[in-house]
Amino acid sequence: MTDANKTPKSRKVIEIHPEGQRIHPKKAEGRFAKLRLAVLAATQLFFYGMPWLMWHGRQAVWFDIPGRHFYIFDMVLVPNDLLFLSGLLMVCAFGLFWWTTIAGRLWCGYACPQTVYTEIMLWIDHLVEGDRNQRLKLEKSPWNLHKIRVKLTKYLLIAAVAGWTGITFAGWFVPIREFVPALFAGTAGFGAVLTAAIYAGFTWLLGHIMREKVCLHMCPYARFQSAMFDHDTLIISYDEARGEPRGARKKTAQRGETGLGDCINCNMCVQVCPVGIDIREGLQYQCIGCAACIDACDEIMDKMAYPRGLIRYTTEAVLKHEYTDADIKKRLLRPKVALYGGFLGIAAIGLVVGLFTRQTMHIDIIKDRGVMVRENKLGMLENAYRLNINNASEQPQIVSAVVRGFEDIRLNGLPEQGLEIPGGELVSVPVQVSTQPEYADRGSHPIEFEFRYRPAGAPENQARTIREKASFIGE
Ligand code: SF4
Ligand code: SF4
Repeated sequence: MTDANKTPKSRKVIEIHPEGQRIHPKKAEGRFAKLRLAVLAATQLFFYGMPWLMWHGRQAVWFDIPGRHFYIFDMVLVPNDLLFLSGLLMVCAFGLFWWTTIAGRLWCGYACPQTVYTEIMLWIDHLVEGDRNQRLKLEKSPWNLHKIRVKLTKYLLIAAVAGWTGITFAGWFVPIREFVPALFAGTAGFGAVLTAAIYAGFTWLLGHIMREKVCLHMCPYARFQSAMFDHDTLIISYDEARGEPRGARKKTAQRGETGLGDCINCNMCVQVCPVGIDIREGLQYQCIGCAACIDACDEIMDKMAYPRGLIRYTTEAVLKHEYTDADIKKRLLRPKVALYGGFLGIAAIGLVVGLFTRQTMHIDIIKDRGVMVRENKLGMLENAYRLNINNASEQPQIVSAVVRGFEDIRLNGLPEQGLEIPGGELVSVPVQVSTQPEYADRGSHPIEFEFRYRPAGAPENQARTIREKASFIGE
């Protein structure tokens, strides 16, 4: 898709959103604006609401970094489970590739936090300062009491949104029900306050000050997403064949009677564009796929009693008349989509299976380097180890162990009936392994620990097994 990197040539863009000046998009209304609002509501309900949800007496989702535990409802993840984070990133990456190949920049237009916070800030602009024309007028007006009052109200609202966003973000990492009262009482921990302040600052900076500049100049996805596009990918496009030659006309003029195309050159599609481009100049990398121009143009088409869809979701192939809009669905099943979909499916299944079958006890065996080998009071060779036993569940669990490697090998330090490890705790236990001198001559010998663990009170047949390799140093 070579057009993706094209620079717009339209001079009208410069007139409507003068370069170097703040973009004041007009508010778009229509079905895609409603869809954007619904996605915004759903994502923000999740972000702001989730930290307040309780689960079995604690925060349902709590990323306790100092405690090295991630709580996600019944699941408790410990540092050994970091592999699942890589799995999750793979699912997100393949999901994004797959979705972008099918539907272009839907993520950018509807769900990306940058888009969402820009939308919230634009909503505040609109609420306090009015629509585009009123905002432009206010910008140009001299400072007076009215302007100071309006600007102050706006900045207070922006500060409230940014502040609460920062507090909420910190609340994913510290118990929010304790953090918020402590914050207002001035007793909250420095780390949590700093996290909230930094996130609030970035919300203000990226959502209010930088806005579309983040998408235009900072976002790497904006640059590489066109590599995932093919000529069957859904894009938001102006139907040049139908729209041109563009031009103003009387509202009473019949369609086609003026010799003009359907574009009445009202520039509404440019006025609503949050990144300040003219979609009629072709697909541009700056376009975030928000569909505001579709809503604006559909409204004009309705007023003119022309069919909707002069600007619409379509594909490059349709624009080149290779097939029609009605055939777009049939093009979903194509090799690139199937390939990304296959990778996504494998990664997602692997992640889900891995998460639900993961060990809830993690054991590290650390050889005591101080004493390589010694003779115990029974005349046996003995090596010392430290077992770091991490109970990655919220229930107490019983762990027991045997060790293998020589004909006569014994393990001391763990009770035969097993050791109870409290839920979510890391316990360090010194143990000794011994054998008769004739089985372990000089050098290192491979041995194996077999641990069995089960929830406290559960029968032995519910125990799960972990095997870990270690080495035994002989005489
Ligand atoms: S909104 Fe539609 S009719 Fe108006 S300028 Fe844009 S493409 Fe043309
Ligand atoms: S061109 Fe249309 S879809 Fe693209 S950013 Fe502008 S308004 Fe949104």
